[in-house]
Amino acid sequence: MLPRGLHCILCGSAFAHGEVEYTCPRCGDAGILDVDWDYDVIARSWRPSAEHSIWRYHQLLPVEERWRRPRVVVGWTPIYEVDRLAPTLGVRALRVKDDGRMPTASFKDRASAVGATRAAGLGARAIACASTGNAASSLAGMAADLGLPAVIFVPASAPEAKVAQLAIYGATVLLVEGTYADAYDLCQKSVAAFPDLYNRNCAVNPYLVEGKKTCGLEIAEQTAKRIPDVVAVSVGDGCTIAGIWKGLCEMQRLGVIDRLPRLLGVQAEGARPLVEAFERGDERIEPREARTIADSISVSHPRNAVKALRAVRASGGAMVAVPDEAILEMVPALARASGVFAEPTAAASLAGVRLARERGLVAPTDDVLAVVTGNGLKDVRGAMRASSVQPPRRIPPELDAVRRELQR
Ligand SMILES: *Cc1c(COP(=O)(O)O)cnc(C)c1O
Ligand SMILES: [Zn+2]
Repeated sequence: MLPRGLHCILCGSAFAHGEVEYTCPRCGDAGILDVDWDYDVIARSWRPSAEHSIWRYHQLLPVEERWRRPRVVVGWTPIYEVDRLAPTLGVRALRVKDDGRMPTASFKDRASAVGATRAAGLGARAIACASTGNAASSLAGMAADLGLPAVIFVPASAPEAKVAQLAIYGATVLLVEGTYADAYDLCQKSVAAFPDLYNRNCAVNPYLVEGKKTCGLEIAEQTAKRIPDVVAVSVGDGCTIAGIWKGLCEMQRLGVIDRLPRLLGVQAEGARPLVEAFERGDERIEPREARTIADSISVSHPRNAVKALRAVRASGGAMVAVPDEAILEMVPALARASGVFAEPTAAASLAGVRLARERGLVAPTDDVLAVVTGNGLKDVRGAMRASSVQPPRRIPPELDAVRRELQR
């Protein structure tokens, strides 16, 4: 199925599918587009395919049937009940959806798979993106699978494992001396200057959000018998939460679920421009310096603020900002209660649930699902800073030493 068209979320202008690929020509970079589908037509013939990946929803994705797709399996990640952590957070039930086990170990593979498929299908010579780390490593992986060169702009401060992934996948890595915002601006300028570079930045490329919506489609299908009251997600640029909401709404329109969860958007205290706009009740973003251990959401100037804020508000949900210590504490807490090792950014969603519960934004009776958006192995240095993580003990290679340690 192909989209019906696109519309600008600022001025409402409508475009035919294929007429524009990125932002609204009238509004410029701020004129983010949204992809429109003919749900009445889709509803008549729609059914998830048997594939256990995002491609089970190919009828709802902007890729042509004949295009080559990455072979690595993206999506259809498991949801686990984490009953031992629910009391700590103060909620009735807690589930996590583990997107950390994707091919490149983050949620971003959902968007990159769709973006790289479009880029290759449309005949682009290479694909580019700016990223705090995960979008980059994800794009590098998907592009490598399709044999498409990738050009990546990351802030020089990105964690080592993420930069290593880029190099291993063979991407052209440009470590920009500056912040993520600087890397982003330079990528935008480059894509404008070199037209055969396809732009994978989710805020300006509406088709990428279609990839992100597969998380919402999956949550709906996987939890149809017990839809969560709240879905908690960490928020940087805002594309992820907006995409999840779109997927959930589509599944309601298609009759898979009969009600929608509330969204809880979680930012770090050191990078909270969306929370501020949410609390003010408007859509204005005041960029300021970002500083947090949660590097994937260390975003000073969120690029998809409007879509994100509208999603959270439409859901009747809320946004909160959590301190770094609370984020770090949730990494071992989740790992010990579930076996799922989340990167600090992903664990922020859980810290957010706890704070929202304390503020009365989440009720003790709520059934909560948190999306674990990235794997802890991406940033082991960060995780080791949590106060409950003990350094390992050194012993001589003797049984007596083992005995002493076990008796401590
Ligand atoms: C990118 C990212 C997010 C947030 O996504 P945005 O679209 O920037 O809001 C959350 N968690 C992880 C692990 C990410 O890499
Ligand atoms: Zn417009």
